Amino acid sequence: MYCAANAAEMGLKAAVAEHGKTLGRKLGITGKGRCNVTNNCDRDTALKNVVRNPRFLYSALSKHSPADVMAYFEKLGVPLKTERGQRVFPVSDRAGDIVSALEQRLKKLNVEIIKGNCTRLLIEDGKCYGAVISGREVRASAVVLATGGFSYPATGSDGSGYALAKQAGHTVVPCQSSLVPMETEERWTARAAGLDLRNISMKLIRGGKTVYEDFGELMFMAYGIGGPTVLSASAHVPAEESGEYSVEIDLKPALSEKQLDSRILRDFSERKGMRFADSLRGLLPAPLAPVIADLSGIPAELRVDEVTKEQRRELGRLLKRLTLHITRLRPVEEAIITRGGISVKEINPNTMESKLCPGLYFAGEIIDCDALTGGFNLQIAFSTAYAAAVAISGI
Ligand SMILES: Cc1cc2nc3c(=O)[nH]c(=O)nc-3n(C[C@H](O)[C@H](O)[C@H](O)COP(=O)(O)OP(=O)(O)OC[C@H]3O[C@@H](n4cnc5c(N)ncnc54)[C@H](O)[C@@H]3O)c2cc1C
Repeated sequence: MYCAANAAEMGLKAAVAEHGKTLGRKLGITGKGRCNVTNNCDRDTALKNVVRNPRFLYSALSKHSPADVMAYFEKLGVPLKTERGQRVFPVSDRAGDIVSALEQRLKKLNVEIIKGNCTRLLIEDGKCYGAVISGREVRASAVVLATGGFSYPATGSDGSGYALAKQAGHTVVPCQSSLVPMETEERWTARAAGLDLRNISMKLIRGGKTVYEDFGELMFMAYGIGGPTVLSASAHVPAEESGEYSVEIDLKPALSEKQLDSRILRDFSERKGMRFADSLRGLLPAPLAPVIADLSGIPAELRVDEVTKEQRRELGRLLKRLTLHITRLRPVEEAIITRGGISVKEINPNTMESKLCPGLYFAGEIIDCDALTGGFNLQIAFSTAYAAAVAISGI
């Protein structure tokens, strides 16, 4: 949609093929329905947040930066605001406003919307000259594959674009989940399922080394853990090696071990005679208190004044280093982003044109690039779409 709108603004006749009932279904559910449309940062900061193939995106982000994306949507009449972490949202908090702004723009520019499934590229003498959409041959001087990844297939992004790219001889780097919840060996997470912890810090560990650290929200699920810090951490986990990772949660990051011990001691002295199992309610959210009581190994019936110094210190260590062992990432269908896709070695980074099949271009998540949360993935989609539009308009 972004590519077609920009191409039409540059004077081209553009059309959008969409096999879903409506345009921009995934866009409409982004940012929990609020659409974190980009990140209010400079090019280099945006590139630092790209996990896979940032160098490939240097030119596209130089041509069309987060500031350009913000200016574009403001121009379309969608006022934006910047929140924590420089995340940009529509002032209305409605992702639908971004979708309808693009739809209206396409309408105004007379961009044809072809409702149908693209099943084949038209290629002759190694050049792409159109596509077959629901049985109809549509000819064009350029075709942009912007079919997304495999994630959330109900939105229409069902991975069918990869087969089209293969038809043109492209290599698809194997796809896996990124920005996705994780399953854990520990089953106790089910007892705290739905609990959304705020202000925790967490570390992703492999072979004793910290691979990633974060601070913020974490959620317990029946099968493991999710929430923003876990989604970001998942970007650093190769799916096939996920069993080698663990997550260490600090439930009390504002307190040192010593300060935490004093706090526990104070709580215990205020609750003299109380069963240990009932004593943690002031310290922890209700669903987590009995879990931690069990994990501590301190007998539930023990009176708090009978808890030994060593037991208390162990409890403190548990609260500072609650460890969960990862068994696997949740499947790609549940992921915010698909990692992998069309190999960047086969795409010209300045124009997004295929190096194998002239006339064929790529934009967005179908390319083997992915970024952290914060609006960077949509920025990648917009920047690559813009680069393709500029290149095609120069044909
Ligand atoms: C729940 C969720 C929340 C997210 N939140 C954010 C966020 O707040 N900020 C952010 O930056 N990123 C977010 N993302 C990621 C972001 O949505 C994607 O990276 C982005 O939408 C990719 O854009 P795209 O145009 O490449 O692909 P898509 O948005 O997936 O669009 C591809 C379109 O092509 C259509 N299509 C596919 N195959 C065919 C075919 N063969 N024929 C015809 N049409 C076809 C699909 O129906 C679809 O409409 C989120 C993702 C999810 C799943």
